[in-house]
Amino acid sequence: MELPERILQGVAVSPGFAVGPALLFSPGELNVPCVIISAVERAQEITRFEAAIAATQAELEALLQVVAQRLGPEEARVFEAHRMVLEDRLLIEDTLQEHRHSGRNIEHCFKIVSRRYADTLEKAEDDYLRGRVADVRDVSRRLLQRLLSGRAHPPLSLPHPGIIIAESLSPSDIAVLDKEQVLGIITTQGERTSHAAVMARSLKIPAVVRLHRALAHIEPGATLLLDGYEGTVIVNSTAETLHRYRALRETPVCVAVSTSSFARQTTDGHAFTLMANLESADEAISARKAGAQGVGLFRTEGLFLREAGFPSEEVQYQAYRQVVEAFHPHPVTFRTLDLGGDKALSHPLYPRGEHNTALGLKGIRFSLAYPEILQEQLAAILRAALHGPVRLMLPMVTSLDEVAAVAELLEKAYESLRARHLPYGQMMDRGIMVETPATALLADHFAHQVDFMSLGTNDLIQYTLAVDRLSDRVASLYEPHHPAVLRLIYQVAEAARLHNCPLSVCGEMAGDPFYAPLLLGLGVDALSMAPAAMEAVWGVLSRVSYRQVRALGVVVLGLSQASLIRDHLQAFYLQALRD
Ligand code: PEP
Ligand code: MG
Repeated sequence: MELPERILQGVAVSPGFAVGPALLFSPGELNVPCVIISAVERAQEITRFEAAIAATQAELEALLQVVAQRLGPEEARVFEAHRMVLEDRLLIEDTLQEHRHSGRNIEHCFKIVSRRYADTLEKAEDDYLRGRVADVRDVSRRLLQRLLSGRAHPPLSLPHPGIIIAESLSPSDIAVLDKEQVLGIITTQGERTSHAAVMARSLKIPAVVRLHRALAHIEPGATLLLDGYEGTVIVNSTAETLHRYRALRETPVCVAVSTSSFARQTTDGHAFTLMANLESADEAISARKAGAQGVGLFRTEGLFLREAGFPSEEVQYQAYRQVVEAFHPHPVTFRTLDLGGDKALSHPLYPRGEHNTALGLKGIRFSLAYPEILQEQLAAILRAALHGPVRLMLPMVTSLDEVAAVAELLEKAYESLRARHLPYGQMMDRGIMVETPATALLADHFAHQVDFMSLGTNDLIQYTLAVDRLSDRVASLYEPHHPAVLRLIYQVAEAARLHNCPLSVCGEMAGDPFYAPLLLGLGVDALSMAPAAMEAVWGVLSRVSYRQVRALGVVVLGLSQASLIRDHLQAFYLQALRD
């Protein structure tokens, strides 16, 4: 009997498709015994502890080298933080003290102390300290494993190729995964901005996080279709769904291109621009290597979420500067803090108890409610502008008043820098995200007042169709190709063209090879996406003609149903890429 197809919705963090069996991982608690050590054996116990620390240090050093070679020095930096945990004298001394006091075996003492240590950090006022909890837990597990078995923490080993499902994976788990075996990653926890997500993107493994019901609702071995563009996981997909996805997956895209020679134009010479969406400064160098002609969206909340609070102007400046320097002379678009919806900060200032966070104090609304936080962020961005061209982008805008309020705060940020005699550069352009139907409908007015616009299709789809982008129940209604969404995109593109206002798309649609030709056809020539998606999108756009995609746009705009549009796109896709 065929099992029914089910769609689960999470957050897409690494683009690509994967089809394969589910491999469920739940590492569980390590079984740490508790025994009394006789007085004569205690010195030996301490030697064993010291030897395990040294071996774990060596293990982390080796991991750092492997990751630096495999992914680059930025990605390796997370393991430096891990090494520092083992250099923390307080953790070591407290463990020895516990051992002397209780006479129990050292692994038991270390388990108690490291857990206490992580719990204390979790409650710390200081954002930086709170951010270290995950490092302490990851390293503690590694050291305990070494003490218990005398061997290194084993890498995840898979019985056969498949899609991993786990509560969470640490960066060290992901960094050493065998790409041939791991077709995709699903976790029930995690953030788009976490180190683990950054690693998955660097390794080009499609991944979806925060699929809360994954462990409970997916049986081991079930066939999964993971869509790392949309954050969707289809369990027991039908032959028809598989066929549709396979048509996309098997699209021949250019491999091993020299990105510097990327001719970013259609077959009939129409130029397009591909830019990168970044969540962290650590991704800048690899995005540049992937051929990005600038950063179309830097999600600054990544820094805030990783720090679990509000980083100082100086910390922000250093992170922003790193990206600007990596991309010079291409522009970097910094989006001001976009909290709200699925991006909640565990901080007292962050609003709790909103009935509907997607419609609450989100994006620019939060920043304008706390102008001192926004002003500090603007000052950090202006300081980074000294090192290369910088653009400012406002999220979740619904009115021109919000744009005017930010312009005032920007003036104040300039004043504050002058008063403190800090050098700064000039903000090149100021723009907005078009993420709500209100903004799309008023695109002509906005186009007059701002220097550029960028379509945030992830939210635009959710608000236009009244479909929560994170809900499983209505996941099948979240349709990027819905005629209402496409009509809005077209209207915004027309308004931008008539008012000479540069326009891009930075929602996930831009990095999806299925939709990229249509976006070009609707009049958007600049697409910003996860760097890992760039090669596939370039592969498709460089094989179609502008004449073809414009005609596609005209036909599709005349269709009244999403299902008809999807069929038409699919036929276009297969035809265009076969020719
Ligand atoms: C969007 O809404 O399309 C977008 C790019 O913003 P985010 O996904 O960060 O909400
Ligand atoms: Mg958005």
